[in-house]
Amino acid sequence: MDAIYADAKYQEVPREEKQRLFDEVKADMRWNETLYGCYECGICVAACPSARFYDFSPRVFAQVMAREDVDSFYELLNDSVWDCSQCFSCTRCPRQNNPGGIITIMREVAVNNGLTSAKDALQAYSRIIYKVMSTGTQVAPDMLQPDFFPDWGPDVVAVADNLDVWRRMVPPETLHTTELAWDVSEKTRLELYMIWKLTGNLEMIEQIDEGIFMILEEVMEELLEENGYDIDDFESVID
Ligand code: SF4
Ligand code: SF4
Repeated sequence: MDAIYADAKYQEVPREEKQRLFDEVKADMRWNETLYGCYECGICVAACPSARFYDFSPRVFAQVMAREDVDSFYELLNDSVWDCSQCFSCTRCPRQNNPGGIITIMREVAVNNGLTSAKDALQAYSRIIYKVMSTGTQVAPDMLQPDFFPDWGPDVVAVADNLDVWRRMVPPETLHTTELAWDVSEKTRLELYMIWKLTGNLEMIEQIDEGIFMILEEVMEELLEENGYDIDDFESVID
C-alpha cells in the first residue's frame, strides 16, 4: 500500500527493514489487544494532551497500523513515538483501540533495535535512569541545578545553593540527605535490579546508552555479590 503521506520521509531506508520493524510490532503479545479497526472519529485526538501541543495524532497511529502502511509507520517510529506522554486518555476510543498501547510497543521496538532516533530522544534521561536503578529513587535533590531546570526561574539557584539547609528542614530522618529523595532499602534495590535484569530492561538500556549500562551493571552486581547472590543463578536469587 502507498504511504498515507505521499511525502513520507526515510525513502532511502530499504522497504524490507521497515517491514521487519513493522512485523516486530505486530508480533508483540500485546498487539492483538490494541487495535480493533478505526473509523476516524477523532475522539482519541480530542482526548490526547500531546495532540494539543505537537504535530501529533493518536488517530494517525491507529490508521497507519490498520492500513499496514510501513512507510508512514517508519516515519512515526522515528519522528513521533516520543511525543506521546503515555497518559492513555486515548483509550476512551469507542472501538476500544489503544493508540497509546500501540505507541508503547513501537517505542520498545525502537529501543530494542537501537534506532538513532530513540537514542537521541532518550539521551537526556540517562542520568535519571542511572539514579532510579542504582538508588531506587527518582529525581534526587542534588539534581535541582539551574542548568537542568532553567524553566524554574531564579528560585532554583536559591534552592541549589542552600540545598543542605532545605533538606534539614524536612522532618523524617531519611530525607536529610541531598543525594536521595528518600531512602530505599538495599534489599528492595537488589530485588528491583533483578527484576529489570530478568525482564530484559537492562538490555534495552544497553541499546540506548552503553556507558550508563556498564556503570550500572558494575555497581549493582558488586552489591549483589557483597550480599552473597550469584547473579547467574537466577533461581536461587528468586528463592
Ligand atoms: S477514537 Fe478510536 S476509532 Fe476514533 S479515531 Fe481514535 S482510534 Fe480511531
Ligand atoms: S497515551 Fe499518548 S497518544 Fe494516548 S492520549 Fe496519551 S499522549 Fe495521546
